[in-house]
Amino acid sequence: MHDFIIIGGGILGMSTAMQLKQAYPDRRMLLLEKEAGPARHQTGHNSGVIHAGVYYTPGSLKARFCLEGNRATRAFCDEHGIAYDTCGKLLVATSDLEMQRMEALWERTAANGLEREWLSAEALAEREPNITGLGGIFVPSSGIVDYAEVTRAMAAEFERMGGEIRYNAEVTGLEERSREVVVASSAGEFTGRYLVTCSGLMADRVVRMLGQDPGFTICPFRGEYYRLPEKHNRIVNHLIYPIPDPSMPFLGVHLTRMIDGSVTVGPNAVLAFKREGYRRRDISPRDLAQMFTNPGILKVLGKNLRPGLVEMKNSLHKRGYLELVRKYCPELTVEDLEPYPAGVRAQAVSRDGKLVDDFLFVNTRRTLNVGNAPSPAATSALPIGSHIVDQVKTMVEG
Ligand SMILES: Cc1cc2nc3c(=O)[nH]c(=O)nc-3n(C[C@H](O)[C@H](O)[C@H](O)COP(=O)(O)OP(=O)(O)OC[C@H]3O[C@@H](n4cnc5c(N)ncnc54)[C@H](O)[C@@H]3O)c2cc1C
Repeated sequence: MHDFIIIGGGILGMSTAMQLKQAYPDRRMLLLEKEAGPARHQTGHNSGVIHAGVYYTPGSLKARFCLEGNRATRAFCDEHGIAYDTCGKLLVATSDLEMQRMEALWERTAANGLEREWLSAEALAEREPNITGLGGIFVPSSGIVDYAEVTRAMAAEFERMGGEIRYNAEVTGLEERSREVVVASSAGEFTGRYLVTCSGLMADRVVRMLGQDPGFTICPFRGEYYRLPEKHNRIVNHLIYPIPDPSMPFLGVHLTRMIDGSVTVGPNAVLAFKREGYRRRDISPRDLAQMFTNPGILKVLGKNLRPGLVEMKNSLHKRGYLELVRKYCPELTVEDLEPYPAGVRAQAVSRDGKLVDDFLFVNTRRTLNVGNAPSPAATSALPIGSHIVDQVKTMVEG
């Protein structure tokens, strides 16, 4: 019998496991992950940005955890010798409409307590000679890191303290009883007093295994990237982001300096036909059937039909994709867009057809389940883990 079982070897599962072991060093803990190693899904396929907390509704969990997570991630990297770069980020407006939206973002950054600087077109050109825009906001605390490396360090910490990790262990069934939770998996059956699940793109299915209706369904959105050729590694000094459309949940195609020195372009947001499918041709009949019979998802798709189709068109036509980035970086050409692996986002959609905006948890008497944890959940992984540990303490200690 284990005291705690954790499902999911992404950054949230590992952060939670590590902090749970720090809180309860003498308790037996087991983490189950279906892949052969950590960070094989969202955590290992993202932009690697340590977000500052620009966009999120003041007072939301995202706003709070992102701000805390920005500092905590950098402190964790310092402690574990992990490379990161606080290179700062520039939000660039390229039209009058975007200038208006930028003013709203300026207010929001103030409400979220961020240090920032308003840049005129001239100041922008001075900071970034290859970027053009009518103005910008500079946020110095944004940075970059390799989240897979952060996750591996968390896993090592958990194991060093005596936690056990089983890879290649896919959880297939859950039963919550009055004094324990029984976990059936491809690596055998395990029993735990308490269960925490951080199962990313499978979050709703794992909650359903408990016999609970999660109240949401995961809709997968593929984020496709390109990488610029090495000669462009110094094309920008900061992370360059467009001003997002506030009605859309994603941030828009950005130029991202990666911690290995390269620069990526992306990601877009295209409906994926398979939850953990990274190529355009990956299709899962089960995932498709669930998506296209789910009233909430159908409503979201119906409401966003036009932008959804435009994203699909730009996904298939490199030149359309290129235009998104040429708006603020006109010197790039289609030859500059080299292949780079995509990621798939887990976005929860509520029954009434809304994209769930904030982080969301679904709890039962003996289980804690992460329901919605899209970006900036990698940045926020340490505070999210600590929040889960606090909830576990309440469960355990009454
Ligand atoms: C394209 C893209 C760009 C992003 N950019 C950023 C960024 O720059 N900054 C940022 O902060 N965030 C970013 N994010 C968001 C961030 O990557 C995720 O929010 C974060 O990685 C979520 O971590 P997780 O542990 O919840 O999920 P995951 O990393 O997906 O981990 C879930 C794990 O659960 C396992 N699992 C699922 N079901 C089972 C089962 N039945 N049995 C056993 N194991 C199971 C999976 O195999 C997986 O390893 C981005 C995401 C994407 C996709």
